[in-house]
Amino acid sequence: MGSQCNGDEFEVPEIKIKFTKLFINGQFVDAISGKTFETRDPRTGEVIAHIAEGDKGDVDLAVKAARQAFDHGKWPRMSGYERGRIMMKFADLIEQNIEELAILDSLDAGKLFTLNKLLDIPGTAHHLRYYAGAADKIHGETLKMSREFQGYTLKEPIGVVGHIIPWNFPSTMFSFKVCPALAAGCTMVVKPAEQSPLSALYYAHLAKEAGIPDGVLNVVAGFGPTAGAAISSHMDVDKVSFTGSAEVGRLVMEAAAKSNLKSVSLELGGKSPVIVFDDADLDMAVDLANKAIFFNKGEICAAGSRIYVQEGIYDAFVKKAVENAKKWVVGDPFDPRVHQGPQVDKQQFEKVLKYIEHGKREGATLLTGGRPCGDKGYYIEPTIFTDVKEDMLIAQDEIFGPVMSLMKFKTIEEAIERANNTRYGLAAGIVTKDLNIANRVSRSIRAGSIWINCYFGFDVDCPFGGYKMSGFGRDMGLHAIDKYLQVKSVVTPIYGSPW
Ligand code: ADP
Repeated sequence: MGSQCNGDEFEVPEIKIKFTKLFINGQFVDAISGKTFETRDPRTGEVIAHIAEGDKGDVDLAVKAARQAFDHGKWPRMSGYERGRIMMKFADLIEQNIEELAILDSLDAGKLFTLNKLLDIPGTAHHLRYYAGAADKIHGETLKMSREFQGYTLKEPIGVVGHIIPWNFPSTMFSFKVCPALAAGCTMVVKPAEQSPLSALYYAHLAKEAGIPDGVLNVVAGFGPTAGAAISSHMDVDKVSFTGSAEVGRLVMEAAAKSNLKSVSLELGGKSPVIVFDDADLDMAVDLANKAIFFNKGEICAAGSRIYVQEGIYDAFVKKAVENAKKWVVGDPFDPRVHQGPQVDKQQFEKVLKYIEHGKREGATLLTGGRPCGDKGYYIEPTIFTDVKEDMLIAQDEIFGPVMSLMKFKTIEEAIERANNTRYGLAAGIVTKDLNIANRVSRSIRAGSIWINCYFGFDVDCPFGGYKMSGFGRDMGLHAIDKYLQVKSVVTPIYGSPW
């Protein structure tokens, strides 16, 4: 079957949605207003569950609980080893519930069930264990200073953290934020995206079962301009860690500046280039480029959405990329034969289709795809445009859908200049057998992650984050813990020392 919706039989696992309320101070509670919102299945557009809709008052309660847990509770005061042990238990519980969590992320976000089981959910356990192991290795420095003083630094948890996360990787985004903050000894309020709140609420339940004290991890589901904005403008939140669009990142920063000048880190959008040189292995390059944009239906901030191909290999590349895209199976994310599920919701689906129409109107050539597929749900065909110019909207904006823009280049200098011609700087791919070209281009691209002869080279010990308008601060790796720590200098005088 080509890039069609798959119509064959397969089994969709049954699930009862257990957690739909806000999780505040260790309890599942209704919103103060009593309001709920619907979370929908992107395969059909039907309602999966009604979720308690948190707003400012609920955020206040959650921050109060987190403040109390930080100022007077055990979590920041216990040894890193003890925190690590509890985080390890949390990880074990996640592993015991992989199937259920994987179903939730597929239902809520249209993500492939097999990949959730293989990568996203086990990845969350992996992140917890990585940072659990780091929790008792957070050290300051000793400072010799000048002759009158000596000193040392203490690394202390930054306090109450607000994590505002998106819907494209509900579990992975939860783990990117929560795990290092827990290791650092912070307390927190997580606001999952309104499109995909189910797994975060489930994680809250497992955190309690693992022994994370009440008030340390609170989850307030709700909408951005209400619950999200209440976090970023809260006077008692010490830090906001945000992943989402550049537009909202700007609002978060403004709110932080206008309230208590809380520390902010932002992981925003991207328009990442993949540069394919003439000497590349054609099959490998095409496979890499197609996965770079079609993986997770293009709903990934690091997607390789601008593909630059050197002129000698260009025609062969285009032909093969189209053949390859036509073999990419779009369909139900529970079907193990499927490569691409539905876009997360109606709004995103319509937004992507609008960009495709715009690309056609601007004069780019549509080689394949470009249409919705199936008679229900939010499925879009893998789409490839050629004759794309850098000033076209489809080459500038983050589409967040399965839409590739293909462009031809002649020289390495030209490739570098055009790849950097974007307001974003999240990631880049380089495909070549020439080590010197790979190294030279790596240094010249202004982006936080460079993947040579691979794409999406993610791992928990490899920092991830942006240059330019892709944001600042790094998730993953030991760098991520630093976001949740303060450095305190402690100085004593030293009398009569000749040294
Ligand atoms: P996307 O474009 O991927 O949907 P958004 O930036 O809109 O990303 O959303 C990412 C997260 O930011 C979500 O949890 C959303 O609810 C939240 N959000 C949206 N608007 C605001 C806002 N004004 N203040 C704080 N958070 C917001």
